[in-house]
Amino acid sequence: MELALIERIQKIKAVITDIDGVLTDGCIVLGNYGDELKFFDVQDGLGFALLSRAGLKTIMMTARKSRINQKRAKEIEAFKLYQNVSDKLRVFQKVSRKFKLAPEEICVVGDDLIDIPPMRQAGFAVAVQNAVEETKRVAHYVTQKSGGRGAIRELSELILKNQGKWFAVTARYTSDNAIPA
Ligand SMILES: [Mg+2]
Repeated sequence: MELALIERIQKIKAVITDIDGVLTDGCIVLGNYGDELKFFDVQDGLGFALLSRAGLKTIMMTARKSRINQKRAKEIEAFKLYQNVSDKLRVFQKVSRKFKLAPEEICVVGDDLIDIPPMRQAGFAVAVQNAVEETKRVAHYVTQKSGGRGAIRELSELILKNQGKWFAVTARYTSDNAIPA
């Protein structure tokens, strides 16, 4: 990997991720009674939680609104969830102000056109493999895996390994004398 890209990744203190198409494959199953179903990936979930446990601010941001998102945010230890977001750049700026983070310290992950404005400002802009072409074009990095199919796990490993945090944050699982949590 290019040194310039590694330097970008090392500065990251917050990850803002879109939900549909990034944490899911983008499919939404709608029922007759207002119910909604989505598929999330369990390995993505742990990857996301590991970012939080390593001290990064993990933020989920979506233009839609659903109780499922609240449930999933809690499960995967998200620091913050923003729903009903029509202007993602505004939330990016809010996060930057509120948590005193420079744009270079924020990673934005997206798959569609609405994600482009904050991606353009982010220190590390990531598009998932299933992202539309325009979104891929503004990204510093395109994941090999698709949304809802390991993209966030891939990103989590990329960030934590390049920041030298991966070993510490996974030791409870991987070290020989690991104590089960
Ligand atoms: Mg999306």
